[in-house]
Amino acid sequence: MKEWVRFLLLVSFVCTSANRIATAQPHEHGTSELIAALDGRTLTVEFSAPGEDIVGFEHAPETSAQKKRHDEAVAFLGSAANVLRVNAEAGCRIGRVHTMETLAEEHGHHEDEHGTLQLRYSYECESPGKLASIELLAFREFPVMSKSKFRFVGPQGQVVRTLTRKTPVAGL
Ligand SMILES: [Zn+2]
Repeated sequence: MKEWVRFLLLVSFVCTSANRIATAQPHEHGTSELIAALDGRTLTVEFSAPGEDIVGFEHAPETSAQKKRHDEAVAFLGSAANVLRVNAEAGCRIGRVHTMETLAEEHGHHEDEHGTLQLRYSYECESPGKLASIELLAFREFPVMSKSKFRFVGPQGQVVRTLTRKTPVAGL
């Protein structure tokens, strides 16, 4: 990933964290984050959700039932087609899916922080100029997820939206 994209993604995360503190919502569930960047033909999307929204807990899985639920969720999220839909005209093909964070690495977190699952999806797009929408399909699988803070950075600038179960598509 190019440095400016990395920088913008970082800024987005830092800003989101700052908002969380400023608005004194230390531990709100139901809200995930979706951050996307288009750089040339490469579309990078990062999805980050509180463990509570995905598997119902935010600590390292302990029981065999928790391990199973966690492993199944990570596998589900590991398939981009389960999580995201990019408008077909852009011809984006999924390349690498990088699992950045799961609860398996969770060794206890501060009360005001979630134990999160975070994945990064990298696409190569045949017609990046036709990129028009990204839909968050994961709402269908995880009923606790109620909204997602969406931010997109591309050649035309930024798009910021709140996606919900009823409006899961972000026009770009
Ligand atoms: Zn939490």
